[in-house]
Amino acid sequence: MRILPLVLAALPMAATAEPLQIVTDFPPVQSLVMQVAGERADVDVLLDPNADPHSFQLRPSQAQTLAQADYLFWIGEELTPWLERAAQGVASDLPNLAFFDVEDHHEDKVDPHIWLDTHMATEMLDLIAGELSAIDPDGAAYYAQNAQEAAAEIDRLTRDVAEILKDVTEVPFAVTHEGYNYFIDQFGLTQIGSLKDVNDAPANAGNVSDLAQQAENGRFVCAFGEVGESSKLLDLLVEQGARQGADLDPAGMTQNLGTGLYRALITTLATSLADCLEG
Ligand SMILES: [Zn+2]
Repeated sequence: MRILPLVLAALPMAATAEPLQIVTDFPPVQSLVMQVAGERADVDVLLDPNADPHSFQLRPSQAQTLAQADYLFWIGEELTPWLERAAQGVASDLPNLAFFDVEDHHEDKVDPHIWLDTHMATEMLDLIAGELSAIDPDGAAYYAQNAQEAAAEIDRLTRDVAEILKDVTEVPFAVTHEGYNYFIDQFGLTQIGSLKDVNDAPANAGNVSDLAQQAENGRFVCAFGEVGESSKLLDLLVEQGARQGADLDPAGMTQNLGTGLYRALITTLATSLADCLEG
């Protein structure tokens, strides 16, 4: 048994190393980062359950978490201006990656809801693996392997969603918040209008009356509100004859936090749309 001490000595340092402290902006990003980071990091999320990513205030304890983190992954200030302000205040030196800065391929950089395009989510996995490997080089192979497995899972998810939506791509619908452009483009859906823009700014009267008129004329079949927002605007469309779909949940507010949240969020979005559009 002389070999035993040698084997023990060869145990990797990482087995006893402190996990990285990673902070994320909201649940979908947390889910993707957890899938890549595995056991080598604690991955926190700042946004409260049921809070709107577009508008939020950090509690002092959350600001503390941010200040003590090793790294921040977030979509960017276009989605969460409150996080930009908080990071400048308490964690101005915190290394971070804003996915929207890297991922936006369009010249008119306006719509931050990039995670709703599953191909972009796959690209995010690679970016996460790259950043984690830079701050924790011992884990590089582990992160790369995790990212590869997560990407294969997202490929399966993408095929599942295309199957769920395949019979409803031509059926027109309206939404209260214009947060679904990436998903709609990827899966070829027919959204004809929205009441509030990509930054969730309040609806203007022109938009509301225009869309209500289109509902009355039968230009669209279903109208979808959003989890966590008032249904007043949606009610206007429904009164004009649109069928009311389930409230959509682009930020995963109604899902359990964790590695499985991303798949659950995307699948639920697809089934919510299909359930109403199939009529
Ligand atoms: Zn939004």
